[in-house]
Amino acid sequence: MFKRFIPFAHSQSIYEIEPEFYIRNHVKVLFMDLDNTLDSYKAREPQQRTIDYVNTLKEKGITPVIISNNKAKRVSGYANLLGIEFLSSAMKPFPKRLRNEIARRGLTPEDVMLVGDQMMTDVLAAKGAKIRVVLTEKIVKEDQWTTHINRIFDRPIRKHHRKKGNLVDWRNK
Ligand SMILES: [Mg+2]
Repeated sequence: MFKRFIPFAHSQSIYEIEPEFYIRNHVKVLFMDLDNTLDSYKAREPQQRTIDYVNTLKEKGITPVIISNNKAKRVSGYANLLGIEFLSSAMKPFPKRLRNEIARRGLTPEDVMLVGDQMMTDVLAAKGAKIRVVLTEKIVKEDQWTTHINRIFDRPIRKHHRKKGNLVDWRNK
């Protein structure tokens, strides 16, 4: 049941995932969700941990891109401070804009991975675009109001897959 919600891997937080994981899985471009994956939705500026993470990825030859459903006004400021590209109003769970982004870069789905904290947006969109996805836990407690309804569906599905052993730790992939 709920097969389309099974992520490629799971991590407590994006910051736990070592670059070697992306390298051994041949990731060229990393799509990163912003709100509650990289930071609180309230955070206007990246903290040092995010700056360091992004810089390490770049050093390893992996291109990080923020893929957010939030508006350009919110996403651009944050992404610009990190010096990375972004896609705002990404319309996850719909895979169309992700697919376009992959094609625009001359990549195939095998070159790309997404990291995000939500089943209802990140996992579904990645699956729809045929890219691998790492599901994380929320980085802070509070969500933007638009996310509350997604969490109502997310919680039992996450619980189900955790119980079934379908949330495989990234270290084992
Ligand atoms: Mg999120």
